[in-house]
Amino acid sequence: MSDPTAPATPARLPPCPICGRPGEAAFRPFCSKHCSDVDLGRWFSESYRVPDQSEGGQNFDENDPRRVDPDDEVG
Ligand SMILES: [Zn+2]
Repeated sequence: MSDPTAPATPARLPPCPICGRPGEAAFRPFCSKHCSDVDLGRWFSESYRVPDQSEGGQNFDENDPRRVDPDDEVG
């Protein structure tokens, strides 16, 4: 049974990933527009930093344990 006197608790939002304060529904998962902008800025700055990882073989690491074993490719 639910207690009618209990206050309606709003959906609990996770804490703001930027500053850790309780999240605000209007800006979730952030607590404010400021933190939302901060996160957005991070995304942009990161997208600039991330090197182009198109398949060029430049970053191919021969010691990469994930690389396909050539024996599997041979019939
Ligand atoms: Zn915040």
